[in-house]
Amino acid sequence: MEQEQQVACIVDHRTHPITDGRLLRELDPAVRNLIKGDYPEAKVTDFICDHHLLKYQLMRVDGLINADVKQTNKINRRLTKAMQSDDYDIIDVNDTLNKSLTMGQKVSDAVARFGGSWGFILIFSLVLIVWMLINGLSLFGVHFDPFPFILLNLALSCIAAIQAPIIMMSQNRAADRDRMNSENDYHVNLKSEHELRILHAKLDNLAQNQIPHTLEIQKLEIEILGQIRSEIDSLQKDKEND
Ligand SMILES: [Zn+2]
Repeated sequence: MEQEQQVACIVDHRTHPITDGRLLRELDPAVRNLIKGDYPEAKVTDFICDHHLLKYQLMRVDGLINADVKQTNKINRRLTKAMQSDDYDIIDVNDTLNKSLTMGQKVSDAVARFGGSWGFILIFSLVLIVWMLINGLSLFGVHFDPFPFILLNLALSCIAAIQAPIIMMSQNRAADRDRMNSENDYHVNLKSEHELRILHAKLDNLAQNQIPHTLEIQKLEIEILGQIRSEIDSLQKDKEND
């Protein structure tokens, strides 16, 4: 049988066949740096047996997982802080306005609603026509406001004078409603933007750190599996030789 090359493990200096381990230059830079941390004099041509290599591979996996957990916690803390710092309560506009409504405001709303309808125009036109017919043609023998209807003019002026401020009152309340709505919108937008930023950070972390880390962990797992397999193989060989 061909004799395999024997090399000394850098950790305990015991000799192993070269197939029972790896040269440092074959390792991932991160794992190699971990070994160099413990053995600063190690060179890339040095050898480490699978048994001792396993410890460093597991250390690397641990390091990757810890880094990911730390980063995720950091982002989650930011999210929690952002949620807590936002103490703005969304105003229920309809509820708030209805609760603060006075009798006068209710009346002004009703008048403005009626004054701005076709029903008002039709009824008002009818009243005008009847008034003018009664006084112009002296129907029923009465003509309390003969042509050119000066009393009717006065009545119309009075109605117009009262109606204008009533409509303005109603419009002021519509402006209040708009202001509250836009205030709500502004805060919702602000909050969404903040959360979107954090979501971006989460996605970036996922794409730039966690996925590459997961792949590296998978690679290490496959390497460890390969080492386990070769150890089983050599155990079986030993058994057959005995
Ligand atoms: Zn060793």
